[in-house]
Amino acid sequence: MNSPNDRLHTPIFVKSGDEMPLPEEPPVFHLITRDGLFRCRNHPFFRSSVRVDEFPSELAAHRPYLKLRYPKLPRKLLEQIVGFFSIVGRRHGAEAAVLLAWDRTAEEIVPIVPEQTGIVGRDWHGDPFPMELLYEIPPLPPQWTLIGDLHSHVDGPAYASTQDKSDEEYRPGLHLVVGRLRFEPPEFHCEVTVDGARFTIPDLGMVSAGYDRRREREVPVEWLDKLTVKSWSTSAATNVYQPVQRTNREVQDAVIVEDSERSKANGENRGDEVATMTAPWQVPIAPNGSTPDPS
Ligand SMILES: [Zn+2]
Repeated sequence: MNSPNDRLHTPIFVKSGDEMPLPEEPPVFHLITRDGLFRCRNHPFFRSSVRVDEFPSELAAHRPYLKLRYPKLPRKLLEQIVGFFSIVGRRHGAEAAVLLAWDRTAEEIVPIVPEQTGIVGRDWHGDPFPMELLYEIPPLPPQWTLIGDLHSHVDGPAYASTQDKSDEEYRPGLHLVVGRLRFEPPEFHCEVTVDGARFTIPDLGMVSAGYDRRREREVPVEWLDKLTVKSWSTSAATNVYQPVQRTNREVQDAVIVEDSERSKANGENRGDEVATMTAPWQVPIAPNGSTPDPS
């Protein structure tokens, strides 16, 4: 064991092995262990080791920080992704998500649109509003590194929700939320997580090469195909609809209804139509052809 700095009044040692003998010379020293920092004494009448929270004051100060070295998200790609979010929000009132990977071979950012399910509810007017977005990170080629994700809050404000923070705690990287989609530009909120800590990025320009306007006409149809929309319903018709097991109690008590009709419409309105389409909300059709009771 070595003292990291001979100028310390109380030397610091690192305990890196269970059988490692502790020094017997210094009357007082600090010991860094897996269980924390300890102040140890070699007193004429005893030897002690007591856990302490305060490090030696002669150490230099240090503050947490994050310095970004991410490649910047290309402007066109960001505008395509916002176009994707915009189409999904307008058609279904649903959130959507895109993952970002870094291709080390091509040295470029690659968008990944995972299979995803948007859960939507309906307000008193029958208008859809986003409730939850479910997706899993697909397996990636070995030369790709996941570096972040974007998801929409549709017309809600862009911020990191409690659910977002929970989802992202063990997913280091960029987390960009796009909200207020009825405005151009929409609202952006970016945070970066690393080792469980969250850092707010104050300027979109730190992670993106800019944003001008959304590109709905340039949204690949394959992206739209990855989305399934389901309606959240408190209908008691559990004999008709397949309930989806959720850990969230509020959703667990409800029934998830597959929106097969809107999924079909999603596939029929592609290409250039997506730019001008303002599909009204359609009542989901149950598998037996009836209309589920929203109450
Ligand atoms: Zn969110």
